[in-house]
Amino acid sequence: MNLLEYKGVWVFIEQRDGNLQKVGLELLGKGREIADKLGEELTAILVGHNINDKKEELIYYGADNVIIVEDEKLNIYMTEPYTKVVSTLIKEKKPNVVLIGATAIGRDLAPRIAARVKTGLTADCTSIDVEDESNNILMTRPAFGGNIMATIICPDHRPQMSTVRPGVMQKLEKDESRKGNVEEFSIEINDEDINVEILEVVREEKNKINIEDANVLVSAGRGIGKKENIDKLRELADTLGGVVSGSRAVVDAGWIDKNSQVGQTGKTVRPNLYIACGISGAIQHIAGMEESDFIVAINNNPNAPIFEVADVGIVADANQVVSSLIDNFKNQ
Ligand code: FAD
Repeated sequence: MNLLEYKGVWVFIEQRDGNLQKVGLELLGKGREIADKLGEELTAILVGHNINDKKEELIYYGADNVIIVEDEKLNIYMTEPYTKVVSTLIKEKKPNVVLIGATAIGRDLAPRIAARVKTGLTADCTSIDVEDESNNILMTRPAFGGNIMATIICPDHRPQMSTVRPGVMQKLEKDESRKGNVEEFSIEINDEDINVEILEVVREEKNKINIEDANVLVSAGRGIGKKENIDKLRELADTLGGVVSGSRAVVDAGWIDKNSQVGQTGKTVRPNLYIACGISGAIQHIAGMEESDFIVAINNNPNAPIFEVADVGIVADANQVVSSLIDNFKNQ
């Protein structure tokens, strides 16, 4: 394999019903930084149906080029046709780096593409950088249960591929003066490529706010004592215009939904305000919330590790503090 033939940073842009998912825009932000360091171009790959009106947006968020594959048969994500489209593009155009969101779709798609184009894949990265001398991509992810961070390189194969957790990278400011190129590509999808039949699409409840999108998170830990106390946290979250999230301990106890779990095996969040109520601050939890803008920790143990990442620490009973906060905010 002649590694020098491979040029450019690609970001796979996830869309649902023609709506761009946030993770793709976040990866364009990171992709822009990597492309600039490498002196290469940044290309957004957009696959689906009724997506043509989204191409300009990808340029405004940092792409130099957009490659669109538009086909009615690509309307809903399916493993085989999407794998065929992206791996065909990679074989033909030979990018140096390919970034994909570590979402349900990305985790399904990326390993298949990597196998098809015979390269490696670093899954579930939390940081991506460029090694100064070699220009290899440094792909970092938690390993051994989150106890160490492993930095992985792919020295002998191209493209250098990774999936990256949603919420970890930051999208650029939208700049409508940015200019770029759009290329439409057609790849034939045969009946043999469609090996599943979609019977029904079940959508998430409409009024459920994704914790990754919330500006304020009031987060529950086992220290709040019992499921009923979640109601108080919800009241505080409502008062502040936020939502409730929690540690794995409270998810395992059935106090909150798995979708609301923060941490290594949950979601990575970056709200303006994160209020940790009765959360110890295990490394697997901190991995998912330490990038929050402002962290308030309430714990009755002054030595709890959560205080190490907190901007404000309150050593007290979490339920009492939550009740006082609700009263205070309501009286303002
Ligand atoms: P605990 O560790 O039980 O802590 C409770 C805290 O509440 C203590 O600090 C205590 O001092 C305090 N407390 C008690 N009473 C009160 C009170 N009245 N008022 C105030 N404070 C009080 N965890 C996650 O959260 N997310 C993950 O994604 C995740 N992934 C994991 C992946 C792996 C592979 C492994 C091995 C573990 C993972 N964990 C994860 C679990 C993690 O290691 C911890 O066990 C978990 O985060 C603990 O949750 P907790 O802080 O709510 O509970």
